[in-house]
Amino acid sequence: MSRAAGKSNLPQGGTKKPRGAAKSSRTDAVVATKGRIANKVATKSRARTDKPAPRGKTSAATNASRSAAGRKVHCFGSHLSIAGGMHHAIEAALALNLDTVQVFVKNQRQWKATPFRSDDLQRWHALRATPGFCPPTAHATYLINLASGDDALRERSRIAFAEELERCDTLEIPYLVIHPGAALDAPAEEAIERVASSLNQIFAERPALRTMPLLEATAGQGSTLGRTMEQLAAIIEGVRESRRVGVCIDTCHVFAAGYDIRDQREYEKMIATADRLFGVERIRCWHLNDSRGALGSRVDRHEHIGKGQIGPAGFANVLRDKRFVNTPMILETPKETAPDGRDWDTVNVEVLRGLE
Ligand SMILES: [Zn+2]
Ligand SMILES: [Zn+2]
Repeated sequence: MSRAAGKSNLPQGGTKKPRGAAKSSRTDAVVATKGRIANKVATKSRARTDKPAPRGKTSAATNASRSAAGRKVHCFGSHLSIAGGMHHAIEAALALNLDTVQVFVKNQRQWKATPFRSDDLQRWHALRATPGFCPPTAHATYLINLASGDDALRERSRIAFAEELERCDTLEIPYLVIHPGAALDAPAEEAIERVASSLNQIFAERPALRTMPLLEATAGQGSTLGRTMEQLAAIIEGVRESRRVGVCIDTCHVFAAGYDIRDQREYEKMIATADRLFGVERIRCWHLNDSRGALGSRVDRHEHIGKGQIGPAGFANVLRDKRFVNTPMILETPKETAPDGRDWDTVNVEVLRGLE
């Protein structure tokens, strides 16, 4: 995707206020949701009724036992390969001494998914139950664009995403991270409506679905949605059952989008904005990646922790934030071997543990 040269680098630039988005095409139900969110902003006690369901007890309990064993509190993981079967990713994570893992739930270059093998599922569930291992996270296929103005492509995306959510349910993965989508030539407001209505349809058709989609904050390359908290909020506001949607914050993306998380006050400001617009409890996953691109560059290129433009201070701001001690922290940094011969994931987690 090409860079959006000439566009504003500021996260607020060019983004329509969420509450003004395309009122005419909304249903009563959506308007009711909007009303609840408006109330939420006004009164803290009302906000409780609209927030997502509490997190599963698993991660907190796991963390307690990890702390008792003298280890630090966060669940650090990495995006690892599922080649040869889903369970290989957990095996690899355990071999790297990681606390959790992020996976694709099918080949990410294809639309079609092949059914899970039963022996693979059995081994996945056995490994998932390893004491001290935190619940895995999933990332959706990059082909999916719920914002597409092309009806056929959007429908294909919705069907594929729904199928991935169901696969996550089978794998007992609580969260499926998805890039909100790209508006392409359409106005952002229209694209935002399309993402929300795709989610509405998925939820309406699957009342028992447990896996929660997490809309990922993006670097804002090209016409991609999600480069501001306001845009994420606008999508959530269009979702009727908004308690079923969460958010994933990627440090590289928000930095490239213009949020200077190196500065503690700017970091706090970003989280306060997120809390005001959609509730901090909605942030269910962090992607910890340093950035090759400069602040506000809208360039999405991941770098090893502390070796990019963000540096250690930005990660310390996240890791010292008590609100996220039970939130999975996932590396999506390059995978090759570090100069000292160790795996880069091991080196990056060591750096992160030093900042807790
Ligand atoms: Zn990410
Ligand atoms: Zn990225």
